[in-house]
Amino acid sequence: MASDREYHPLAVREVVDEAADTRSFVLEIPPALEETFAYTAGQFCTFRAEIGGEPVVRSYSMSSSPDVGDRFTVTVKRVPGGRMSNWMNDALAAGDTIEALRPAGRFVLRAADVPIVAFAGGSGITPVLSILKTALATTAREIALVYANREAGGVIFAAELERLRAASGGRLSVHHHLDAECGLLDAAGCAALVGDRTAADFYVCGPAPYMDVVAEGLALRGVAPSQLFVERFELPAEESAPPEGSETESIVIRIDRRKHTVRYEPGDTLLDAARRAGLNPPFSCERGNCATCMAHVDEGRVAMRSNNVLSPEETRAGWVLTCQAVPLSREVVVDYDR
Ligand SMILES: Cc1cc2nc3c(=O)[nH]c(=O)nc-3n(C[C@H](O)[C@H](O)[C@H](O)COP(=O)(O)OP(=O)(O)OC[C@H]3O[C@@H](n4cnc5c(N)ncnc54)[C@H](O)[C@@H]3O)c2cc1C
Repeated sequence: MASDREYHPLAVREVVDEAADTRSFVLEIPPALEETFAYTAGQFCTFRAEIGGEPVVRSYSMSSSPDVGDRFTVTVKRVPGGRMSNWMNDALAAGDTIEALRPAGRFVLRAADVPIVAFAGGSGITPVLSILKTALATTAREIALVYANREAGGVIFAAELERLRAASGGRLSVHHHLDAECGLLDAAGCAALVGDRTAADFYVCGPAPYMDVVAEGLALRGVAPSQLFVERFELPAEESAPPEGSETESIVIRIDRRKHTVRYEPGDTLLDAARRAGLNPPFSCERGNCATCMAHVDEGRVAMRSNNVLSPEETRAGWVLTCQAVPLSREVVVDYDR
């Protein structure tokens, strides 16, 4: 698969205050990188910065849409105690550069002739805004947005959403849910907000507990999983590993034109096993987001704990994210050289 797995330095052109704890970063894409950084609304980039002498890698979705002439923009909300989000909000200024991998992600608009209902929570509005702008500009679909926040001061893009709603000729409706006024949204409340739009496609992005409540609410309305598209910013707290091959004792790794048989410790990912054996496999985010550690499984079966980048076609063709892949069979042969 032809894919660019390199970090590219991008200059910050402008920093925009969006809310008390959130800033947008408009990035300069040099002409030579325009193709590399072409993206679909809803995708994200993985960024690398050196913070306190250590490299930190995190993903941020584009809040801009490539279909309306927007400049390439990511929007970052502070997470209390968080390393990258606070560093970007405090230290990253116009004229600085930050390293980024090419855009990735599958949380994108599916072509369909049905309404769109989006549930966003907090910073989860970022890819949702991008998708809404594209849907308004390139389709005639009806769109309903439910946007949950703790309180009014934290609402990101309030003015932009109002501008889009007012210009949509009635196609976009925006419902703000504020926990401070109405308590946390529950499944019944979510089901009520869906109303009769049960044939819609549903796009959901927000904190894990919010996404769980929305999924429950949609299930109450009989929404099929095939109508549901989600983007997870955090791994679910109880992400349990798939049943792992307790019988796997060693795996064969092809890398740098050599073949190594390495010991397998239960619980290790393929990447862990390669590193434990002193090999030097490529990796970066270690969260299943960036594809730097991608390799091909030539023999055997593996399962991924998380995968935010590879398409179903790629996984069917045998590609895996080795930072997320655990062996399920006795014999596994993995190839980093393909
Ligand atoms: C595909 C993808 C797209 C994303 N897009 C955006 C985006 O557009 N805008 C944005 O602001 N963030 C986005 N994120 C989240 C972002 O990547 C970071 O996880 C987040 O900024 C926290 O990183 P940090 O280094 O500041 O915190 P860390 O130092 O990693 O974490 C600090 C603490 O906060 C917890 N934590 C981590 N992430 C979150 C979170 N999102 N909410 C609450 N607690 C958390 C951790 O468990 C840890 O205890 C996205 C994540 C993914 C996977």
